[in-house]
Amino acid sequence: MAETFIRFSYLLAAVLFIFSLKWMSAPSTARRGVVAGEIGMLVAIVGTLVHHDVVNYQLIFIAFFVGSAIGVPLAYLMPMTAVPQRTALSHAFGGLAVALIGTAKFYQHAPQGFTLAAIVFETLLGFLTFTGSLMAFGKLQEILPTRPIVYRNQNVVNLSILGAAVVLGVWLIADPQQTWIFPIFSGLALLFGVLLIIPIGGADMPTVIALLNSYAGLAASAMGFAIDNKLLIIAGALDGSSGFILSVIMCRAMNRSFTNVLFGAFGQLQVSEGKVEQKPVRSATPEEAASILESARSVIVVPGYGLAVAQAQHKLRELFDALTRRGVDVKFAIHPVAGRMPGHMNVLLAEADIPYDRLFEMDEINGDFAQADVALVIGANDVTNPAARHDKSSPIYGMPILNTDHARTVMVIKRSMNPGFAGIENELYYMDKTLMLFGDAKSFITALLKEIGMTANALPK
Ligand code: NAP
Repeated sequence: MAETFIRFSYLLAAVLFIFSLKWMSAPSTARRGVVAGEIGMLVAIVGTLVHHDVVNYQLIFIAFFVGSAIGVPLAYLMPMTAVPQRTALSHAFGGLAVALIGTAKFYQHAPQGFTLAAIVFETLLGFLTFTGSLMAFGKLQEILPTRPIVYRNQNVVNLSILGAAVVLGVWLIADPQQTWIFPIFSGLALLFGVLLIIPIGGADMPTVIALLNSYAGLAASAMGFAIDNKLLIIAGALDGSSGFILSVIMCRAMNRSFTNVLFGAFGQLQVSEGKVEQKPVRSATPEEAASILESARSVIVVPGYGLAVAQAQHKLRELFDALTRRGVDVKFAIHPVAGRMPGHMNVLLAEADIPYDRLFEMDEINGDFAQADVALVIGANDVTNPAARHDKSSPIYGMPILNTDHARTVMVIKRSMNPGFAGIENELYYMDKTLMLFGDAKSFITALLKEIGMTANALPK
């Protein structure tokens, strides 16, 4: 009876995980996806707890409370803009859990053959994910220097350490009596995680986190083989492949190759300068900007990281409503790496209930800018920089961008002329058709609303 219950709960959990991923891939079904994933996890835990192998419920409940005491405040205290580092911490914990289970299995059960091979693989990935993710967290939280830490022959040193760990792992599988190998092997895996991440700059961290997610998934899958748990094999494989696909998507959106992210010390470009002709920019007041928006027929809003920092999404929703009521066609252009994590803008706009059918991916909307009266850029910078198209010396050369500069008028809300994430000037700001709207996104949009409200009062309802 218990066996049937376990099987059924694992099957149900696996199905829920698969649907969860499917639903999370579109904004309109994302919430359902999250709930399905949560229920799936609950079903999986309940199924595991009735397992006859579970001998010590007390320890499990202590672990449950310790985990919740860390996880719940993390979820509530860390702001939305800190989600990349929060995710890195989760992967660190996931990697550590997998590696510790592998270690316990090794010492308790003296495994051999295939099981030992799975444990070696699991422990290697688990430990390197643990330290690698902690380093990624430190860099993103700016506890550690965000710039790449590089030294001569770094890649050779790193690969030698990984090579040594692999050789020791294979040796252990071939001769399981040599238990002294295990701690050295684990130490090398921990060290490799640190060394793998320190040469990578802060700018590439989100991509690396997606990759670490993939490692954690693979480690969990290997653990599934080691402890003969089919659900773990499935969930780990889903996690591993989705993390990998995500990092590939992010690399493409930034026009980078994997090897370049891992071995190219990209973050150095944060100090490099783009070549921009220094000339004055044109700026406008909320009043002027409001009158341009009101007389436009079509407006494309380009949200970016600054919108998230200012938490201006609800004000933006009000602006959307005000303009739509006046007959202006308002659309939102979403760049795949706008903000600081994949889907950042979708989540932000969804929070303010901006209709999903007004959100357009870069490829869908790029052709529309040429017909748009106004491109309203709010806290976005790099994803609109035309230098990416033609300036071969620019660090973002080749990155696909939103064709904001094709619109008839461009208006940019940001606080200063400071650069964005890539640390370079944006030539968009110096174009004749561009108006800079200096100010915090939330305050500026509030001022715009006030202006539009004033004139809207005169309109027949
Ligand atoms: P961005 O290039 O980083 O620019 C954000 C702009 O927002 C800044 O120039 C800043 O200018 C402005 N800003 C900050 N706070 C603001 C506030 N309170 N009110 C108004 N404006 C504010 O952002 P992006 O265009 O979204 O581009 C994302 C960058 O992150 C890209 O370089 C991308 O490659 C990188 N990245 C993204 C991901 C991802 O998954 N999304 C992953 C890795 C890397 P002021 O300081 O003048 O206000």
